[in-house]
Amino acid sequence: MSAEPVRQIVIAGGGSAGWMAAAALATLVPGVRITLVESDEIGIVGVGEASIPPIHLFNGLIGLAEDEFVKATQATFKLGIEFVGWLNQGHRYFHPFGRYGDDFGAAPFHQHWLRARQLGDPSPFAAYSLTTQAAMLGRFQRPGDDPRSIFSTFSYAFHFDAALYARHLRSVATERGVLRREGKIAHVELNPENGHIAALELDDGGRLAGDLFLDCTGFRSLLLGEALGVPYHDWTRYLPCNRALAVPSGKVPETTPFTRSTAHKAGWQWRIPLQHRTGNGIVYSSAHLSDDEAAATLLANLDSQPLDDPRPLRFTTGRRDSFWHGNCIALGLASGFLEPLESTSIHLIQSGITRLLHWFPDARFDPRIAAEYNRQTVIEFERVRDFLVLHYRANERTDSDFWRSCREMQIPDTLADKIEMFRLSGRLLPRELDVFQEASWLAVLLGQGIDPIGHDPLADDRRPTELDRILTGMRGAVASAAQAMPTQSQWIDAHCRAPQLTPGKELDAVW
Ligand SMILES: Cc1cc2nc3c(=O)[nH]c(=O)nc-3n(C[C@H](O)[C@H](O)[C@H](O)COP(=O)(O)OP(=O)(O)OC[C@H]3O[C@@H](n4cnc5c(N)ncnc54)[C@H](O)[C@@H]3O)c2cc1C
Repeated sequence: MSAEPVRQIVIAGGGSAGWMAAAALATLVPGVRITLVESDEIGIVGVGEASIPPIHLFNGLIGLAEDEFVKATQATFKLGIEFVGWLNQGHRYFHPFGRYGDDFGAAPFHQHWLRARQLGDPSPFAAYSLTTQAAMLGRFQRPGDDPRSIFSTFSYAFHFDAALYARHLRSVATERGVLRREGKIAHVELNPENGHIAALELDDGGRLAGDLFLDCTGFRSLLLGEALGVPYHDWTRYLPCNRALAVPSGKVPETTPFTRSTAHKAGWQWRIPLQHRTGNGIVYSSAHLSDDEAAATLLANLDSQPLDDPRPLRFTTGRRDSFWHGNCIALGLASGFLEPLESTSIHLIQSGITRLLHWFPDARFDPRIAAEYNRQTVIEFERVRDFLVLHYRANERTDSDFWRSCREMQIPDTLADKIEMFRLSGRLLPRELDVFQEASWLAVLLGQGIDPIGHDPLADDRRPTELDRILTGMRGAVASAAQAMPTQSQWIDAHCRAPQLTPGKELDAVW
């Protein structure tokens, strides 16, 4: 006899996590009643404005039409992240969403480049990345799908207005039958027999009973953390920043198709250009920088006039001990937080939703299913953590104790092994469930000054003159392809220019 299916899903919280989950479950899980409770009075974090390419999979999953989504969220396109001052002051490098060069022979492309460099070729690795060259010229077009074309070698993501994103998903989800309940959760009622959540009690006297509960209540983690007591693992020893200040500023005439991350004395500043305004913020360590100094640094480094006062946010980097406990699964900030250096939070939400769909339970809630979900999610968080730690650890800045202590910190063995293997031979240790592919690791390892002392012997299969001819040809092809692309503004004008909004009044205008 088959087990009873899950019939009632209650989603607690209506930030990006809650509405992403609502839209996906309403689209893909048949025969369930989904209720989402959120509190306008509490509001959302609302600063998740940059994404990474797998977001296309999520948009595809829920059937979002891309141009409509771009218009509805005042989005721009993102080809990667420019890191300014991370290795040392004055230095910059680019982490592109796309590959470098074209593989030939038995060794991967970057091994041929390493060999050429060891033979004296001065060409930078970035010269082989169409994504990087296009980004530096402010160019954008969607990639092609012909694998023989150079225009298939890059990918892209989006910068979007986080509040508009949540609203857009809300309209998608409610159109597909999700019931929205305004109210504050006052108490979480547990089933005394099995410790599962039985219902959420609201401060207006309402009660939401369900089979499956998603905790999307943000940093509060009201269900998993508070009611079920699942502990939090603090990763501040690896990622020392614990505060942020966010401020919007005016739009700039020519938006760059990339996020910029600029390192400062005790942290870093983001700049995310949108169609109607620019998103900015500083992420810093309160042990090394006061809030006033952080605000002054942020405001002194804007490209345009601030539109508001900086908004403070506090966080502790880390993760919940488990993400799925009994009949409750936490998504988004309720499940953990890794600072936004590589724009991974929305991805982790998406990945949690996809994993939940893969392991969707029946009403028995067999703990073996939860255990596998948790195993995979822990690994995924740790992979992202390692990638972020690399940016801090491999710095050569001498201007503050903050950067010195990052250089000297003990790092996870998984990252230490990866760095050492790369230094030795330019090879990358592959890791299960790593959202960052080879090209991303190469960009950041090389960008942060990790210089391999050797290369793969299989890359010695070309005579130096032939190698030079191949590499020169590739650089030329990349440079001309980048020049041939339209600017981002031209592309947006032709396909997805959003309606003009007054920054700060976005939601009034749309709703
Ligand atoms: C400084 C900073 C920068 C960031 N930048 C990025 C980025 O560039 N890219 C990226 O991918 N991510 C980024 N993030 C992360 C991103 O903002 C979040 O992952 C995303 O917004 C999801 O948030 P959430 O839905 O989990 O929580 P929230 O947005 O906090 O939503 C929580 C919801 O729970 C509700 N709630 C809470 N308590 C109650 C209650 N008692 N009763 C009823 N409802 C309740 C609230 O009303 C709200 O609807 C950033 C985060 C920070 C802090």
